[in-house]
Amino acid sequence: MNSPLTYWLSRLTEGVNSDEIELEPAQLELADLEIGKLDLIRLSLTLVRTREDVLVSGFAVSAVSQSCVRCLKTVTTPINAQIELLVRPFGLRTDPRSGRGRDTDKEVAESEQNTLADGTLYYSGESFSISDEVRQAVAVEIPGEPVCSKACRGLCPSCGIDRNIDSCRCEEQKSGDSRWTKLQQLIEETGDQESD
Ligand SMILES: [Zn+2]
Ligand SMILES: [Zn+2]
Repeated sequence: MNSPLTYWLSRLTEGVNSDEIELEPAQLELADLEIGKLDLIRLSLTLVRTREDVLVSGFAVSAVSQSCVRCLKTVTTPINAQIELLVRPFGLRTDPRSGRGRDTDKEVAESEQNTLADGTLYYSGESFSISDEVRQAVAVEIPGEPVCSKACRGLCPSCGIDRNIDSCRCEEQKSGDSRWTKLQQLIEETGDQESD
């Protein structure tokens, strides 16, 4: 396991362990996001070990730069993802519904670790990695439809003008007085020449 967030149970003392880590997005496979670019990810974790169980909690802090979906301006959103995970060896797994243990559960036996929906990570061997869980916690904090502000008026779909800083008559033209349209075109053309 070459994951950057791998911990060996034997290296964690019983009780409270702290870890401060800085990771490049690439180390968490978050570098090639289609919807934005992440800054360095700063993790501040507390690992509380009680015999074989480890309770991992803390935060992953970063920021993501994206384009506003309305006006294309760059928007930077702070990321503050909460991490909370109970880590246990497979041997301690009991499934109350099926009663199946580790020996009969093929799915579990084939993978080195498996995280349940309730936030419990089961692992086999001497070490476990929380990089998948951290990646997911960060990923869900990234806005799917970023806007520079809720009031962003976006770009005009006809002429492409940024309606936050300028205005156009495209809407009025659509609604259709052709005489007005011609006049407006004339005004715009004159305006263009002036601004050149
Ligand atoms: Zn915008
Ligand atoms: Zn327009």
